[in-house]
Amino acid sequence: MNVNQSAPPVPPFGQPQPIYPGYHQSSYGGQPGSTAPPTPYGAYNGPVPGYQQTPPQGMSRAPPSSGAPPPSTAQAPCGQATYGQFGQGDVQNGPSSTVQMQRLPGSQPFGSPLAPVVSQPAVLQPYGPPPTSAQVTTQLAGMQISGAVAPAPPTSGLGYGPPTSLASASGSLPNSGLYGSYPQGQAPPIGQAQGYLGVQTPQRSAPSQASSFTPPASGGPRMPSVTGPLLPGQGFGGPPVSQPNHVSSPSPQALPPGTQMTGPPGPPPPMHSPQQPGYQLQQNGSFGPARGPQPNYGSPYPGAPTFGSQPGPPQPLPPKRLDPDAIPSPIQVIEDDRNNRGTEPFVTGVRGQVPPLVTTNFLVKDQGNASPRYIRCTSYNIPCTSDMAKQAQVPLAAVIKPLARLPPEEASPYVVDHGESGPLRCNRCKAYMCPFMQFIEGGRRFQCCFCSCINDVPPQYFQHLDHTGKRVDAYDRPELSLGSYEFLATVDYCKNNKFPSPPAFIFMIDVSYNAIRTGLVRLLCEELKSLLDFLPREGGAEESAIRVGFVTYNKVLHFYNVKSSLAQPQMMVVSDVADMFVPLLDGFLVNVSESRAVITSLLDQIPDMFADTRETETVFAPVIQAGMEALKAAECAGKLFLFHTSLPMAEAPGKLKNRDDRKLINTDKEKTLFQPQTGAYQTLAKECVAQGCCVDLFLFPNQYVDVATLSVVPQLTGGSVYKYACFQVENDQERFLSDLRRDVQKVIGFDAVMRVRTSTGIRAVDFFGAFYMSNTTDVELAGLDGDKTVTVEFKHDDRLNEESGALLQCALLYTSCAGQRRLRIHNLALNCCTQLADLYRNCETDTLINYMAKLAYRGVLNSPLKAVRDTLITQCAQILACYRKNCASPSSAGQLILPECMKLLPVYLNCVLKSDVLQPGAEVTTDDRAYVRQLVTSMDVAETNVFFYPRLLPLTKSPIESTTEPPAVRASEERLSNGDVYLLENGLNLFLWVGASVQQGVVQSLFSVSSFSQITSGLSVLPVLDNPLSKKVRDLIDSLRAQRSRYMKLIVVKQEDKLEMLFKHFLVEDKSLSGGASYVDFLCHMHKEIRQLLS
Ligand SMILES: [Zn+2]
Repeated sequence: MNVNQSAPPVPPFGQPQPIYPGYHQSSYGGQPGSTAPPTPYGAYNGPVPGYQQTPPQGMSRAPPSSGAPPPSTAQAPCGQATYGQFGQGDVQNGPSSTVQMQRLPGSQPFGSPLAPVVSQPAVLQPYGPPPTSAQVTTQLAGMQISGAVAPAPPTSGLGYGPPTSLASASGSLPNSGLYGSYPQGQAPPIGQAQGYLGVQTPQRSAPSQASSFTPPASGGPRMPSVTGPLLPGQGFGGPPVSQPNHVSSPSPQALPPGTQMTGPPGPPPPMHSPQQPGYQLQQNGSFGPARGPQPNYGSPYPGAPTFGSQPGPPQPLPPKRLDPDAIPSPIQVIEDDRNNRGTEPFVTGVRGQVPPLVTTNFLVKDQGNASPRYIRCTSYNIPCTSDMAKQAQVPLAAVIKPLARLPPEEASPYVVDHGESGPLRCNRCKAYMCPFMQFIEGGRRFQCCFCSCINDVPPQYFQHLDHTGKRVDAYDRPELSLGSYEFLATVDYCKNNKFPSPPAFIFMIDVSYNAIRTGLVRLLCEELKSLLDFLPREGGAEESAIRVGFVTYNKVLHFYNVKSSLAQPQMMVVSDVADMFVPLLDGFLVNVSESRAVITSLLDQIPDMFADTRETETVFAPVIQAGMEALKAAECAGKLFLFHTSLPMAEAPGKLKNRDDRKLINTDKEKTLFQPQTGAYQTLAKECVAQGCCVDLFLFPNQYVDVATLSVVPQLTGGSVYKYACFQVENDQERFLSDLRRDVQKVIGFDAVMRVRTSTGIRAVDFFGAFYMSNTTDVELAGLDGDKTVTVEFKHDDRLNEESGALLQCALLYTSCAGQRRLRIHNLALNCCTQLADLYRNCETDTLINYMAKLAYRGVLNSPLKAVRDTLITQCAQILACYRKNCASPSSAGQLILPECMKLLPVYLNCVLKSDVLQPGAEVTTDDRAYVRQLVTSMDVAETNVFFYPRLLPLTKSPIESTTEPPAVRASEERLSNGDVYLLENGLNLFLWVGASVQQGVVQSLFSVSSFSQITSGLSVLPVLDNPLSKKVRDLIDSLRAQRSRYMKLIVVKQEDKLEMLFKHFLVEDKSLSGGASYVDFLCHMHKEIRQLLS
C-alpha cells in the first residue's frame, strides 16, 4: 500500500479520548467484543507513512493539546442544526404527561389472585399474589463463459452439476438421489452428465490450456475443490487461481485461451492499480478449460432453466453444460482477496479506493476517509453523468453502519469539543467541518466542499495556512484530517433545548400460560438478576447510567415499584389497556445498584406469582404504549425489551387475527403476507420515535404470531427482532440467553437523526433499514446500535466532475448511553469517471448484492414476487450487457464476459432470487419469511454476504494442529465428501454435516459413539471430549458464533437422514426444491438475457 502523502507535523490530538463504549466493558456472557481491554489510543500522526508501520498499540497517547473550546463568541450553530423532528418533540414531550400520570382508571388493587382484573382503581399495594390472568483492471479481461456447449449427449436435458467432477474432486459422494426430486426437464440424467464429463475432463487438461495460463501470484492453479485429492483427470488444475476470467468457448472461432485477453480496445490500465496490487494479479486474460469444438457454439440457450417457481418443460434441444469448476467461484474470489489484501492495512488516504472484501481480515488506518467498516459503496468510481449511470444500471448506493464496532486494534472516533459554539458548519448546506473543506484567504475563510459556499472562519478557529494551502494545525484536529470523528453537541442539538437524561431500559415480560409453561419466565428472571450488572457503560464509568424498569403482562399489565427504599417490590395492575397510562412514576425507573435488593426480590417472585396462570390471551400494542409513556413521563429516551409468546388476540388496541394463508403464495396477493394487518402499529411506532423509544422484540411463538405486524414497531424504531419458534428451555436457552446478553450489553445510541449530505451533482434519494422518516432527508432512529446499517441510494441531479470527485458526509446526532449528546461524522470521497470501464473496475459486488436484496425485499410489500425477481434479473442483465457492449473487446456472442469485480454477481444474485423471501420452499412459514425480510433490511455487507452464500467448512481435511479456519468449499452437494464432516453457517443457522463413510475414529472423537449410525440426528450440542479433534471443532464453532451478531444454534445432520433436506436448502449452488435454479443454470439464463439485450 503506497500512499504518497507528505509527512505532516505530528502533534497529538486534543482531548482525552473516551474509550469506545463497545470495548471497555467487563465481559459478560462470553461476548467477544466486550472482553477486550480498553483500546489504547495512539497519538494521531496524520497520514504519515510511518503511521502504517507502527502498531497502534505501541503508541502512547500524548496529552491533549488542541480542540480546546474556543471562546464563546463563536457563531452559534444554526437553528436548523437540530433537525426538523424536534419541533414535534416539543409538543409531545411537554408536561402533559404528569397529568396522565395521575389518572388511575382501570387499575386494580392487587390481591385476589384469581379475580378477573377489571376497571377498579389502581392502588399501590404491598406485594402479593398476582392476578390471573460479496476485478481486474478489467482489462476487459472479462470473463468469458462461453456457451461451453457440450457435445450433445444423446438425450436431452440440461447438463449441469457435474456429478463426476464431484466424485473425482472430493472423493466420492454418490450422486444418486441428489437430483431426484428436480423437476423433469431440468435435471439431466446422471449417467449422461457423467458421460459428458468423461469427454470433457481430458480436454480440460489440454496442454494449451495450461500453458496459456499464467498463474497469478496468489498461488498457482488450484483445484476447484480444495479439499479433494487430485484425481486423474483433475490434474489440469481446474480454473486458474484467480477465477477463470474466460471460460472460453470451445467453439472453433474462439481464440485459444490466453490469447483471448479481451483487453478492451479502449481503457488503458486502470489508474488505481497501484493502490490495488491485489487486483492486478487477477487481470490475466482468458483462460479456462479448453474444450473441443462445439457444434452448438453460439447458439442461444434453448435449454435455459426456468426461473420462477415453475419448472420448465422438458428441453428438446441439445443440452449444453458448463463445468462448475470453470465458472467463477466465490471461494476462489474470497481466498484471492484474503491472500492479496489481508496482509497490509487499508489506508483511507486516497480517494475512491475499493476496500478489501468483507470476508478479508484487514486493519484500517483512517487518513481522511471513513473506514469501510462504517461505509461501503456499490462503486468507488461513479459516472459523471446520469446518462452514463442509466446506461450502466449499476445502483449507486452506500451501506452505512454509523456506530459499527471496531476491532480492538483500531481506535474509535475521537471526540471533538468545540465548546459552546458547537461544531463548525457550512452556513448554507450545514455540512460539518471535514478534511475536504478548502481554507482560503490566508485561512480566514473556507469554501464548502459540498455546496461551494464561502464561509468565514470564526476567530477562535482561525489558523494560518502552510505553503500548500493547508492549515498548519490540520493534523492536530480530527475534523481536518480524519474520515470519522465525533463532535460534542451543544444544547442546541437537544430536544427542547435541554440536555438529555440518561436513557432507560424497560423489561416487559409476557407471563401468560405459554410463557410460564415453557420455563421462559423463570429462565429470563434468573438471567436478568445478573445481566443487569452489565448494562452499557461509557468511558471509564464505574456503573451504567441507564435506569431500569419492569412490567409483566398477559391481557392486563402489571407495573412494579422497585424503589430502593421499599422492603418489597409493589405491583400495580392496569387493566384498561384501551387507554394505556403509567400508574407510577417514582420508583418505576431505578438505578440498578441502588435498588438491587428490591429488583432481585421482584425477579425471584415473578415466576412464582404467575406459576399457576391459565391466562392464554395477550395484548401487545398496549405494552409498547405503556413503555413509551413511561419513558415520556421520565423525560428520557430508552429501549423496551419485550418478551412475547403469542398472537395478541385479547381485546385491545392492536388486536390481531390469524390471517396466515399459504394459498396466497405465488399469487398476486402474496404481498399481503408481508404487510402489517393494521395501521395501528405504524402510528404507535411514530410516537415511539418521537420519544426516542426503541423496541427490541423477543418472540417465542408456538404458532403463527404475525411477525409482519409485530415487527413494525421494532423495525421503525431501530430495534431488533429475535424469534425462537417452539421455545423449550432445554433446547433453546443457550441461544436465547446469548442473544439477550449481547442485546442488552451492546452499545446503542438513542434518539438519533442521521443525515447524509453529498457534494453537488448527486443526492441521497432512497433509504433502507430500521428507522422512520417523516421527511425525505432525515433518517430518524429511536435507537441505533452497532449492528444496524442504513443503506442509502444516490442519484444524479447534475453533472459530476472527474477532478473534484464526489463527497459523502454522514452525520449522526444521537444520545450516548451515558446521556451525552453527540454527533458522529463519517466522510467519504469517491472518484468520478467519464469511462464506463472505470465504473466497472471499481464496483463491489458484495455491496451491490446487499443493496439489491434490500430493494427486492422491500419490493415484495407492493409487487408480486415474480415481478420482483424478474426486475432483479433484468437489472443484472443490463449491468452486464452494458459492460459487454462498452467495455469488453469484441468477441463472439457465445461468450459470456463478466467484469472482473462483478464476476460473482450472477451467483450471488441467484442466491437472493431463491431465498426464502423471494421463492419459499414448502417448509418455510409466513412468519419465517417476514422475520428474515426484516432482518435483511438492517444487515451489513458481511452479513448479507454469508447469509445469501453460506460458508461450508470441511473439518477433517486440514491437519488437526492447524489453528486457522479451514478453507471453505463451494456450497454445493457435489463438494461434499461422504468421508468428511462439514460445518455450514450463514449467520443465522449452523449445521454440522456428517458423511456416511466418515472414519470411525472421527465419529468417536466428535460424538463419543462407536459408529455413524449411533450419532443422534438433530443433536444441538457436541459432547465436550478431551481429544484434539473435538476441541478443534468446538473451538471453531465458538469462533463462528463470535463473528456473528446472533447466536447460531447447532444442528447435527447425518448424510441421507431426513434432516438433510433442511441442510441442502443452504447448498445454494444447487437447484433448490422450491424451484430455484442451480448456479450453472442461472449463469446460462443470465447469458441468454444479456444476449437478448445486445442483439
Ligand atoms: Zn455547504
